[in-house]
Amino acid sequence: MARCLVTGGAGFIGSHLTERLLELGHDVVVLDNLSTGRAANIVHLEGHARLTIRVGSITDPVLLAEVTTGTDVIYHMAAAVGVKLVADDPVRTIETNIYPTEVLLRLAAQGKQRVFLASTSEVYGKNPKERWTEEDDLHFGPTSRPRWAYGCSKAIDEFLALAYYRKFGLKVAIGRFFNVVGPRQVGHYGMVIPRFVDQALSGGPVVVYDDGEQVRCFGHVREVVDAVIGLVETPAAHGSVFNIGSDEPVSIRGLAEEIIRRVDPQIRIEYLPYRDAYGDDFEDVRRRVPDVSKLATALGRKPSLKLGEILDDIIRWKRSQRDGGGVAS
Ligand code: UDP
Repeated sequence: MARCLVTGGAGFIGSHLTERLLELGHDVVVLDNLSTGRAANIVHLEGHARLTIRVGSITDPVLLAEVTTGTDVIYHMAAAVGVKLVADDPVRTIETNIYPTEVLLRLAAQGKQRVFLASTSEVYGKNPKERWTEEDDLHFGPTSRPRWAYGCSKAIDEFLALAYYRKFGLKVAIGRFFNVVGPRQVGHYGMVIPRFVDQALSGGPVVVYDDGEQVRCFGHVREVVDAVIGLVETPAAHGSVFNIGSDEPVSIRGLAEEIIRRVDPQIRIEYLPYRDAYGDDFEDVRRRVPDVSKLATALGRKPSLKLGEILDDIIRWKRSQRDGGGVAS
């Protein structure tokens, strides 16, 4: 059994990862500043004999040195996330996403921990290809558009991680997450599914940006965290980048219709221009579909839950929250 540090362990993906690592019998230290992460995400784990929770910031290098000491694996999940949040505060995005990663990689190179680095499909930018593979070019827009700060900051993290692998033999696997969804995800930072489900459960309308012809693939967080753990435990995956997510495309309009069909077919869709949703500087990505064959080859499996099953799970969770539960599950 390993001793694991999960930065961002109270976040949406981080809390599921923490829970799974504990289930597998590992010791876990969570470091989270509870900014976009929420205490409610891990409240059900509090008091667990193999869990230590540290509230603090990854931008504090002394704290990072302290929490990494004695660990075997570092899952670096903490980051400024969400298109809306990133567009609103690009300075924070850059500061949170670059410097702390460098500090952690240096500590791991010294301490010989294995590392998982959470990256994002945003690094592909607006690459026009139908399906994105890990060796594809990165197509960012201009620096006047804050959205690209997120993808660029994570691309730098990837460069750093790969450089530490080459130079110091750091055992690091890099995962590019594609629209990860599931229970505990909240809509405040722009994420589409919790917003649509909340809107539908409140009687609508469901607000689709632009024409709704944008395409995404939605992967269930439980399958995603299993892939993350699998990559850390697969030596052949170290020093390499992997797309992680579902490869089943759906348009945002199709997504809205699926949710409406499940909640109440009477609910209307309303269309809102990007300008009104995100401001003038915003640029969306029209199509984002991964090729996950590299992941499937490395692990012998890939996220395969169907969108319908994923939506049922999220709607069930949202309903339980609204019925007064409020506790993460
Ligand atoms: N979107 C939408 N309504 C919302 C939030 C998002 O139509 O309330 C759209 C958004 O424009 C994008 C897609 O849904 O095309 C996915 O958005 P999200 O922020 O979840 O993820 P990302 O843009 O990073 O893929």
